Amino acid sequence: MNILFGVDIGGTQIKIGSFSEKGELLDKWAVDTDLSDQGKRIIPAVAGEIRKYASEHQIPMDRIAGIGMGIPGPVDKDGYVKVCVNLNWRDFNPVTEMEKELPGVCAAAENDANLAALGEYYCGAGKSASSMMLVTLGTGVGGGIIIGGNIISGSHGIAGEIGHITPHIEEHEKCNCGNTGCVDQFASATGMVRIMKKLLKSGEVESVLTMEEDFSAKDICTCASKGDPGAKKCLEICMGALGEALSVFSHAFDPEIYVIGGGVSKAGQIIIDAIEQEYDKHFFLIEKGAKITLAALGNDAGIIGGSILAAKHAGLK
Ligand SMILES: [Zn+2]
Repeated sequence: MNILFGVDIGGTQIKIGSFSEKGELLDKWAVDTDLSDQGKRIIPAVAGEIRKYASEHQIPMDRIAGIGMGIPGPVDKDGYVKVCVNLNWRDFNPVTEMEKELPGVCAAAENDANLAALGEYYCGAGKSASSMMLVTLGTGVGGGIIIGGNIISGSHGIAGEIGHITPHIEEHEKCNCGNTGCVDQFASATGMVRIMKKLLKSGEVESVLTMEEDFSAKDICTCASKGDPGAKKCLEICMGALGEALSVFSHAFDPEIYVIGGGVSKAGQIIIDAIEQEYDKHFFLIEKGAKITLAALGNDAGIIGGSILAAKHAGLK
């Protein structure tokens, strides 16, 4: 039996999954990311984990059909990474490095949100759709577009970067990308806390969070689901910014479905309802836009997407 590996490389942890050729998840585990030496120890560490797994399971190296890696930043078509702040990489190619570590094994790399999108498209919430966009709501806002089974990363690797579409031109604070009014400043976990603090400071809303010195996006969602007026207003503003940006995407490439994932999406349907409320306001040419739904694969989306990318590169899919 041939084996595929899906690897999701993050700034604190590396998740690794082994898969059968048919796509069944066999094993998964995680190791800490060693960022020292400009992140140069990351790929040898992943290769070491794969060698160890293969030897423990008596899998000859020529049975490893491929490795698909997710990287938290833009990745060129040949796997080249110009800058990846989270991994301390600069002018680095994880694909050639992996192929040096494991000669004869076919490796591939993609942006992590694109990879998670591939996972949701083939095995998760986007399964029945012909075109899909995944939006991940975590510390930041990421996105990945899949059309006809292929990742659309664009000419410059920024297609689907919904976090830096700017629906709020009246915003004066700067986003970490340097622009102002980005979706990231609202719909990310950090953005939600920022807006909630602003609302509380303005005194315009009532909320139990007024009593709290510190709170998280999760606290805001919990309060909103209990009917807290301030938290509800915060969700309306933050997810409204995303809803508006999704309507821009719909007018650009009209996907069948939007899949919402990432830590913030764990709050559930309340997030979808708040996005839809704004999204639906922007359609005049058609009656209704795309379906918006929650992601299905949770934290495994990246490794599953990695195994699919590996299978595609190996000509198995
Ligand atoms: Zn931005």
